[in-house]
Amino acid sequence: MADGPRLNSCVPIPKDIEQLKDVIEKAKDWALMHGVGIRNKKEFNPDALQIVPFTFFPSAFPRKEFEKAVKIQPILNELIHRVAFCHSFLEENLKDTIQVDEFTGNLYKIYETVRQEGINPRLSLGSVRADMMLETVCCYPDIEEQSYCCWKQIEINTIASGFGWLGPAGVHLHRFILQELGHYDKLKNLPENRALEGVCGGLIEAWKLFKNPKAVILMVIEDVVYNICDQRFHEFRISELSPKTRVIRRTLTDLAQRATLDADKNLIIDNEVVAVVYYRSAYEPLQFHSQKEWDARLLAERSSAIKCPSIHYHLAGTKKVQQALARPGAVEQFFSDPEKVTAVRDVFTGLYSLDFDELGEDAVKKAIEKPERYVLKPQREGGGNNIYGEKIRDVITKIKGSRERTGWILMDRIVPPVQENIIIRASQPAARTDTVSELGIFGIIIGDSNEIIYNKQVGHMLRSKESTADEVGVSAGFGAMDSPYLY
Ligand code: ADP
Ligand code: MG
Repeated sequence: MADGPRLNSCVPIPKDIEQLKDVIEKAKDWALMHGVGIRNKKEFNPDALQIVPFTFFPSAFPRKEFEKAVKIQPILNELIHRVAFCHSFLEENLKDTIQVDEFTGNLYKIYETVRQEGINPRLSLGSVRADMMLETVCCYPDIEEQSYCCWKQIEINTIASGFGWLGPAGVHLHRFILQELGHYDKLKNLPENRALEGVCGGLIEAWKLFKNPKAVILMVIEDVVYNICDQRFHEFRISELSPKTRVIRRTLTDLAQRATLDADKNLIIDNEVVAVVYYRSAYEPLQFHSQKEWDARLLAERSSAIKCPSIHYHLAGTKKVQQALARPGAVEQFFSDPEKVTAVRDVFTGLYSLDFDELGEDAVKKAIEKPERYVLKPQREGGGNNIYGEKIRDVITKIKGSRERTGWILMDRIVPPVQENIIIRASQPAARTDTVSELGIFGIIIGDSNEIIYNKQVGHMLRSKESTADEVGVSAGFGAMDSPYLY
């Protein structure tokens, strides 16, 4: 991928980073000692942590664009909420995908089952994160004055939206580093970030709405958890904010083996009544080992517990549904206020279906001709699944004659501006490198098909990666924790 134009880093980075050696060492220790940790993937040890990869400096991000992203977040919450509760939209747009994508098909079966039985309970809790990147392509070549054009949305995550802890932790770490280096004047440009309180506040609110003080929040976790600090700090903060709210952690397989529904459809596991099911797992096929885990997901969905996300929210977050939303006229179905429509339309970049129709054929042709301009996405979450560059041509050529292609979507590739930074990774020398960043804004929404009773933007996170890398997922091993330096 050709690099985009450049942004100036927040402070000049010395040519010889040896000068920063002491502060780098200190920052690594600060990180470890303040919960900026992750488990080692190669040698998993539940008793040990290593530092989360992080950028040494916060990354410059235009204040105007940051503020716009924060402002629009509740509108995106509302959109995803309305989509989740719009059966005709989900049905129409997923009908082909569920024939060819088994995972989405299985989610849809659960959705259909509970829809026919009557959604239980009426309320859903959405803990979402809208991810975006600054775009530069649209203003080439006249890009002298500012190094970007606007930001464009990558996707909205509706399940397991992580970094509620690591987002704010990035700000704290950068504050420490800038102070150590004497850049006191820069501190005012690090925006406050209360994502952890915000996400935990949403979970506690849902727990209160369940109206059983003895019931617990159930965090559904992966079999092996690498991103442990991010998850645990949610538990710690919930216990600080609401000492009587207990959180328990179980895997999908634990649920498959031991969860039941009582006569009132309460979800019971290990003698605990569950008020809220908070999924930090169940978003990728490998997390379901057999039909039993699928049965467990259905059981939870049928229960009286408030789900985060409920199955219709999960479906609303699929890539196919988000592509369908970018079609002309789609957003208008959900908002009568033209200002909201324009605000949302403005942040979409080109998204194309690969259906067997004129538009789909056109997308296939464009992707084969100029694959470097696109990202090809299957119906997956969690990072590492998308296809980039020349490989797009190979994959599309292979699938273009089969129904399988309707399970994929094509998206314009965003080319973000590049800036210099230093990436610090465990057991590796610090390296000065060109990076690109991706901003995520967190939102919490609670409501049912009739009304929204809670809708808030609650904080942000920034991740960065080497400008040559395709993806930015930190847990997936690509990116680094960062924080925005507003200018
Ligand atoms: P996932 O659900 O696996 O996180 P995403 O759609 O968020 O899938 O893509 C994963 C990563 O790939 C993003 O975080 C981003 O770094 C990169 N990416 C995705 N879409 C685009 C795009 N249109 N342009 C540039 N990079 C993209
Ligand atoms: Mg993503």
